Amino acid sequence: MISPAAILRELVAISTVSSQSNRELVEWLQRYFEPLGWHERVLAYVDADGNEKLNLIVSPAPLEEGTIHAELAIVCHTDTVPYAPAWQDATKLLEENGMLHGCGACDVKGFLACMLVAASEAARTQLKKRLCFVFTSDEEIGCHGARFLLQQKAVQARYAIVGEPTSLIPARAGKGYCLAKVEVFGKAAHSAFPEAGYSAIFAASRLLRKIEALSEELTEYSNQAFSPPWTTLNIGEIRGGTAKNIVPSQCSMLLEWRPIPSQSPSFVLDRVRSIIHNLAAKDNGFAATIEVLRMEEGFETSAESAVVQAVLRRSDGEIRNISFGTEAPWMAKMGAEAVVIGPGSMLTAHSPRECVPMVELDECVDRLLRAITRLCD
Ligand SMILES: [Zn+2]
Repeated sequence: MISPAAILRELVAISTVSSQSNRELVEWLQRYFEPLGWHERVLAYVDADGNEKLNLIVSPAPLEEGTIHAELAIVCHTDTVPYAPAWQDATKLLEENGMLHGCGACDVKGFLACMLVAASEAARTQLKKRLCFVFTSDEEIGCHGARFLLQQKAVQARYAIVGEPTSLIPARAGKGYCLAKVEVFGKAAHSAFPEAGYSAIFAASRLLRKIEALSEELTEYSNQAFSPPWTTLNIGEIRGGTAKNIVPSQCSMLLEWRPIPSQSPSFVLDRVRSIIHNLAAKDNGFAATIEVLRMEEGFETSAESAVVQAVLRRSDGEIRNISFGTEAPWMAKMGAEAVVIGPGSMLTAHSPRECVPMVELDECVDRLLRAITRLCD
């Protein structure tokens, strides 16, 4: 068997920061799969900065026209976050005490290397059901590649394994992520004559009290897969006013919520809109707007799902939920029962401390092969 570490060294050497094209890495992958006789499809788009972004789908069996129907899709993003210029060895994989250090080592080229080793092994047997490997672009900047594949109806999968560093503990559920800017408007006046104006900050405080009450109401809808088991809500930033002696004409805040998967991400949005509507109905001066900045739903797969069971660690069978964004909700939209798993820990990712334990790479190859055999054979 080729070693995942040897492949990882080559993958890390190709810089794939989301701000640049991922063509070089995708071509590297194409060259890898060619001698295995796998079939491929490339779905490309040009990003907002004019860079070409490629999504690659490969499968041991010929691909049908149109939507590819897979029993199992194993999904991995090709991009990494930018690394600090001071990190001179970012693209040089360094080994130290059983750990491999480099940009993308755990997020998520370690998993990518494991997929490639598993492909070489799986290529030796004839699978009965369709296996697909899906390599996406731009996960780190908002899952643009996965979004594009969904728009293009490129893939439908019954099961999906999404690679992200979870220290090889399968994650079967994740909350969504939503963010909105709320702006409250008033009328400026000299503070000695407040009746000549309308305070946007006092108006915002009335709105805030209602939003706080909403956050308490949200605890009534619970999902025990999470801690805390409900949709959480936060006002993380607030800005308003211009000077101590001016009645403020404007106050804005950032409202963030993380919806449980069983609740629509628009539930909180609709409630805040109706709070604004009701406040405006009672008070002519009240005016506020809400602008959605992000609206991503979560995902939840049953612990009993075959895909979750297929990647469990044999010794303890531990399953978790996941607290960071992944492509799993996108795979769920493509019909899949999804699980997130991969070597290394997100605690080191997105930093010069990024690393992956070598033993987890070997273990990950075994789990992928087990899942491929169980689900596709
Ligand atoms: Zn990642």
